[in-house]
Amino acid sequence: MKCKICGNRAVIKLRAHNISLCEEHLIEFIERRVERTIKEFRLINKDEKILVPVSGGKDSLNTLFILNALGYMVEGLHINLGIGKYSEESQKKTENFASRYNLKIHILQVKEILGYSTPEAAKKLRRPACSVCGLVKRYLFNKFAYENNFQVVATGHNLDDEAATLLSNILNWQEGYIIRQNIKMDSTHPKLVKKVKPLALISERESAAYALIRGFDYIREECPFAQGATSIQIKNSLNMLEEESPGTKLRFYKGFLKQNIIKREEKEIKLKECKICGYPTTRDICTFCTMRERLGSKID
Ligand code: SF4
Ligand code: ZN
Ligand code: ZN
Repeated sequence: MKCKICGNRAVIKLRAHNISLCEEHLIEFIERRVERTIKEFRLINKDEKILVPVSGGKDSLNTLFILNALGYMVEGLHINLGIGKYSEESQKKTENFASRYNLKIHILQVKEILGYSTPEAAKKLRRPACSVCGLVKRYLFNKFAYENNFQVVATGHNLDDEAATLLSNILNWQEGYIIRQNIKMDSTHPKLVKKVKPLALISERESAAYALIRGFDYIREECPFAQGATSIQIKNSLNMLEEESPGTKLRFYKGFLKQNIIKREEKEIKLKECKICGYPTTRDICTFCTMRERLGSKID
């Protein structure tokens, strides 16, 4: 198997793109694709300050690294969730990565903010850990970005994540979620920072190959609370379709983005400001502050 660009030994065959590539040209291929995605969907500009939520996993490290390599003003934010060894390891990998590549990383500790780690808070609130975790991360990434003058939050969602979410939402006709799923979510309130997904057209396998070839030391263990059967089943089903017909995931997700099947603007929700923290919400008190009140955490 030879690289289609230079003829040297290829290390990967990308059937969705009908191309085999050597290490050097895979790196170039991925970075160019990210750059093209950014331009095609007008995700970010060179004069915007971008915050990348960094978990320590391959996709978030790739996002931070590639945006920096493409010349964007980028910094990372790692939230330590307080999930035992998994969180310790994630923070360590994130910090090592940042110092190795001279990238700026900010660290927040959930335990310091809530007075409880994520699993402790979930237990006290009798809610699933992932629902508390999702709420805390969404709120803190936006708040940190707004307070530190970032104009964009760029997450590391890859094509497999996006295609699986889309398929799951369609299978269950979750209209509200389908409307809100996009590669770019513009700010609809002065305190709501724009969100983009620059890796949304890069598959899981391509992202893993990129991190591997670059020699990134990322966290490979799954969070102990990682979602079970359903999302894995959906990803497996998509992989089966992809195997039969390469490019299925890309066609499915790109078709959704391009055709703009749902008129998003018609469904825009009116936001007000939370009476406690002032951040946008559809209620009088936002879900984050409600949670803090229930936990008895001090409000700063
Ligand atoms: Fe948070 Fe759940 Fe993801 Fe773990 S699996 S990081 S608890 S959302
Ligand atoms: Zn090559
Ligand atoms: Zn609030």
